[in-house]
Amino acid sequence: MEKGSLTFPVLTLSMLKKVLIANRGEIALRIFRACRELGIKTVAVYSTADQNLMHVRLADEAVCIGPANSTDSYLNIPAVISAAEITGADGIHPGYGFLAESQDFAERVEKSGFTFIGPTPEIIFTMGNKVSAIEAMRQAGIPCVPGSNGELSNDSEENLRLAKQIGYPVIIKAAGGGGGRGMRAVHHEDTLLNAIAMTRTEADAAFRNPSVYMEKFLEHPRHIEIQILGDGQGNAIHLGERDCSMQRRHQKVLEEAPAPGITPEQRAFIGARCVDACKVLKYRGAGTFEFLYEKGEFYFIEMNTRIQVEHPVTEMITGIDIVKEQLRIASGLPFDFEQKDIQIRGHAIECRINAEDPKSFIPCPGDITLYHAPGGPGIRVDSHLYSGYRVPPYYDSMIGKIISYGETRDIAIARMQNALEEILIEGIKTNIPLQVGIIHDPNFAQGGTNIHYLEKKLEILKSEGK
Ligand code: ADP
Repeated sequence: MEKGSLTFPVLTLSMLKKVLIANRGEIALRIFRACRELGIKTVAVYSTADQNLMHVRLADEAVCIGPANSTDSYLNIPAVISAAEITGADGIHPGYGFLAESQDFAERVEKSGFTFIGPTPEIIFTMGNKVSAIEAMRQAGIPCVPGSNGELSNDSEENLRLAKQIGYPVIIKAAGGGGGRGMRAVHHEDTLLNAIAMTRTEADAAFRNPSVYMEKFLEHPRHIEIQILGDGQGNAIHLGERDCSMQRRHQKVLEEAPAPGITPEQRAFIGARCVDACKVLKYRGAGTFEFLYEKGEFYFIEMNTRIQVEHPVTEMITGIDIVKEQLRIASGLPFDFEQKDIQIRGHAIECRINAEDPKSFIPCPGDITLYHAPGGPGIRVDSHLYSGYRVPPYYDSMIGKIISYGETRDIAIARMQNALEEILIEGIKTNIPLQVGIIHDPNFAQGGTNIHYLEKKLEILKSEGK
């Protein structure tokens, strides 16, 4: 064909060219890998405690943005934006935690002329406040937990009346809460007003937002969440659900997909509700609708407007690389698949590996004297560890994730059992013994345990002195 005979569309959309990774640890490495696959150059930013992180060594450029304390480095918005400016990055990926759900950050990234790899600042703001998120979801037709329909006033009589109407037990939750903090279950009216006052005080101190709301406390629910992708133009797709019921202190420990016992019809029903909500919101990027699931019903609790720790289990069963999709969406590229192309195949389980004492759960940073990763069919390890790496004491204790895949749940479990036996992490304590206990647990093998199961199991073990 002769040169010049091709016709090009007027608008040629193209992939981001250089992405700054505003995070650390395993997720920074995960984003780095996705960028590499797409031919995107990378900029790592790191604190003085993190110069030995694997992705810092591998990235095209690396910029130190401050001291160990995350307030002065990973949470320091001007430092992150300056790093993007001096390196000429065009996009910024926030990962999870740190600035991932900061409306202020997203806004300043965009105002400085960079692409924020995530939703618009307005959506982050709406979903960051659980009261406004629930309101938006109710309007979009998503089923929510029966509750106060807004934040609680200071009117004691009104609050007592409301709790009675909802029916005890209820749970008082901070509108600005996160990370499993800022929640208090109330079983009797005698303790309601005190619980409201205490949650308010804590919420004000922890989240600088004293507003609280009330929900029915579901006693035996499972935590089931839907992964979605929105293109920001009004198109959205769901990638099925994950079961994250294995929790300690409202924090996820092990996740799996699909959720045991959820039928294709239920998946299609709740998935479609989430997709509709995303279409209405013109949602941009990856997001998760979190639900409690009890007696066959889904109840929305919150939406996360970012990539989640547990995203790999969904990737394993759908074959969709969610981080690459985030980068494509941020580049303005359309999906190259439709809802009907999304097929759920097999089963995946993720075990979070934390640097902590497996019994007391006290963080255990320090030098990794020896590291050996597990392998074999269906095993994926997302971790920045290597022999000689020092786990710093300043950040979250999660040091990696093992993900197992199998054609059936039983195969995924058997592979995870092998992987947990094979992995060697010496020099520090980890929660691997806890994960071994869960993966060999007969009730876990059955599937469908609720959000209280792990804590109850731990209590029993403790009382037996184990
Ligand atoms: P966070 O943002 O802190 O993670 P969530 O609203 O997502 O808070 O809730 C985290 C966990 O707290 C849930 O997975 C569940 O275990 C528990 N929880 C939250 N709301 C309720 C409720 N209404 N009834 C029972 N448990 C709840």
